[in-house]
Amino acid sequence: MEKTLIFGHKSPDTDTITSAIVMADFEKKLGNDVEACRLGNLNKETKYVFDYLKINAPRLIEKVEEGQNVILVDHNEFKQSVDGIENANILKVIDHHTMDFKTSYQLFYHSEPVGCTATVLYKLYKQNGFEIDKNIAILMISAIISDTLLFKSPTCTDDDVKAVEELNKIAGLDINSYGTSMLKAGTDFSDVSETDLINLDAKEFMIGDIKTVVAQVSTVDIDEMMKRKDKIEDEIKKVIEDKKLGLFLFAITDIMNSNSQVIVLGENSNIVSLAYNVKLENNTAFLPGVVSRKKQIIPIISKVAN
Ligand code: MN
Ligand code: MN
Repeated sequence: MEKTLIFGHKSPDTDTITSAIVMADFEKKLGNDVEACRLGNLNKETKYVFDYLKINAPRLIEKVEEGQNVILVDHNEFKQSVDGIENANILKVIDHHTMDFKTSYQLFYHSEPVGCTATVLYKLYKQNGFEIDKNIAILMISAIISDTLLFKSPTCTDDDVKAVEELNKIAGLDINSYGTSMLKAGTDFSDVSETDLINLDAKEFMIGDIKTVVAQVSTVDIDEMMKRKDKIEDEIKKVIEDKKLGLFLFAITDIMNSNSQVIVLGENSNIVSLAYNVKLENNTAFLPGVVSRKKQIIPIISKVAN
């Protein structure tokens, strides 16, 4: 039997990459033949984690063959998954996102309303009485810090905080200083082109019948990023044209002060004005307190359109 491939979503973030590795470790403890993979390049935040641990990135894959056994982590929507997923054989899904998923066969599907896939995985280790080694603990902690912005995101739950507390008994990190360095490493986009910038962490979905993309970058300096606004807008316009989008929202999120500056384009951009009761000036607005795409952007703009 061929190896089961484990991977997270396209435009991978730290949770997606590390959860594939952690899940592979977990599956090996169950005696299964698996390999962690990735669907895109590592971002700088994830690179920081890999450099810290002196480990290599999982293998890059672009598509899977028909009948390939796979395990999905940190996503369930086929749109965000590997090419060929429709004809793959999904054995398991471990996730923490809303569910947009249907198969004609049975599988193991475990999703919890927590801030991070790693938190779900941590619970699975505990349930099975499996030991967690130091590197795996650091990978899980990194994922939780990333997804919860060091516990500041409204998506962060008590379970996420508790998981880090317990995992850190194994890892022995200074969570605040490690976490801040890791998050800051992820905000250096100086050598990233505008084309890549708007694709690094982009999620496509439907709001009613409006094809929408919400992309997000983290920063510690909104003004610095806004100097690139014109070029960013040019790239967004190309994507709108290519994908026939009604709305593209690009959120520049200040992870230290927990705010976002958004750049909004598309013929349905008034949805954003209505959702937040703000005026878009030159296609942009400041949204105080908004950091979470999952909790503070997607549901808010979806409500207006319905
Ligand atoms: Mn993710
Ligand atoms: Mn996640």
